[in-house]
Amino acid sequence: MTSPATVYTPVIRSNIHTLPQFKALRTDLQHTILTVSAVFPFRTNRYVADLIDWQHVPNDPLYQLTFPQRGMLSSEDFAAVHRLIRRNASAAELQPVVNEIRMRHNPHPAGQLTYNVPHLNGEPLPGLQHKYRETVLFFPSRGQTCHAYCSYCFRWAQFIGDQDLRFAAKDSSGLTAYLRHHPEVTDVLITGGDPAVMKTRFLRDYIEPLLAPELAHVQSIRIGTKALAYWPQRFVTDDDADDLLRLFEEVNASGRHLAIMAHFSHPREMSTPVAQQAIRRLRDVGCEIRMQAPLIRYVNDDPQAWATMWRRGVGMGMIPYYMFVSRDTGPKNYFEVPLGESARIFRQAYNQVSGLARTVRGPVMSATPGKVLINGMTQIEGQRAFVLTFLQARDPDWVGRPFFAHYDPEATWLFDLKPAFGASASLFDPDTTYAAAS
Ligand SMILES: *Cc1c(COP(=O)(O)O)cnc(C)c1O
Ligand code: SF4
Repeated sequence: MTSPATVYTPVIRSNIHTLPQFKALRTDLQHTILTVSAVFPFRTNRYVADLIDWQHVPNDPLYQLTFPQRGMLSSEDFAAVHRLIRRNASAAELQPVVNEIRMRHNPHPAGQLTYNVPHLNGEPLPGLQHKYRETVLFFPSRGQTCHAYCSYCFRWAQFIGDQDLRFAAKDSSGLTAYLRHHPEVTDVLITGGDPAVMKTRFLRDYIEPLLAPELAHVQSIRIGTKALAYWPQRFVTDDDADDLLRLFEEVNASGRHLAIMAHFSHPREMSTPVAQQAIRRLRDVGCEIRMQAPLIRYVNDDPQAWATMWRRGVGMGMIPYYMFVSRDTGPKNYFEVPLGESARIFRQAYNQVSGLARTVRGPVMSATPGKVLINGMTQIEGQRAFVLTFLQARDPDWVGRPFFAHYDPEATWLFDLKPAFGASASLFDPDTTYAAAS
């Protein structure tokens, strides 16, 4: 095929004809891509394209991961957009149709960057989120894009320019001022998009101030990234890859922990020599790599995929962390997996790996009241029920207490569930829980 990619070049809707595999695709699949990507953001790159088994598209899981699919739009929406594209309609004609469809696909699930924004001296601090006592989330403005876009991304609105990026932080001065007043915070999680898209010198400007002696309570700096899957060259051959590793090494040498929260969706993403080299280089400078991803229909709705991923990951020194339930946004109907099925997939994967891989927790919903773990299903007094617990909650007192919901095979999110066996209804209600806990 093509020679291994070494210079990062995004493949988006307007230059997709430069991708050799696109030119070789069936015409109906080409049409699908051009139609659906007019609505939902699309971005991939040659490295990701080379991970795809093109003999098996559209079913190949890595094709499903970044390429637009026919089922992501209803037949009416698809037909409406397709008709406009076929007759080369102007942007002015296309825009209102596309916007109307986007608005019907919940572009802003759970407020995202606007909820839980902390204040200092009465002023809101953009780019910060403080929901759970120990951990502050930090959204640097330069890290709000990704090397490729997952088709299920809950931040998709920001990739089409809809989300107001003034909610991201230009520098870390607000963060460090806030942390000086919050000695209870042990973890800063730098997230995006993907902070690893940033040049090292910018990332250094954000991270270095966190190493100040008066911030000794900040013990762990986490970086949430999909770059090990979408552009591992970032840690190996990019111009400033060595500088990046030096920066991480400095953090670890300062007595803090630099943790990589690596988004891996499928075992094939860790199969290439460059991905394995990237993992090794990060480990060599003292980084721990924790693996997490949402469970997505057609991408990884298969216990074998997860078990293989955890096994191989552990073999490379990584730590399985979370299996998430995907959020209610974008083409959700296409990729959602009901909670009951998710719990079965998790258990069938979990029960075939060794204890070293059983650090993983899931399926987990990151919902308004907190991170809710589906422990599994059980029968109580003749009724089927979900057993749930909070792994994180706005109110730390909720953490670790089991509660119940009636089993519902169709439910795909916490708010679809009905409380059972004495569980408080407020735990399931997005509005009352938000009010009760904020
Ligand atoms: C998941 C998450 C965290 C980190 O939680 P851990 O259980 O420590 O990984 C922090 N803040 C928010 C808003 C989160 O969703
Ligand atoms: S890596 Fe994360 S933020 Fe980036 S497109 Fe995928 S899900 Fe979205």
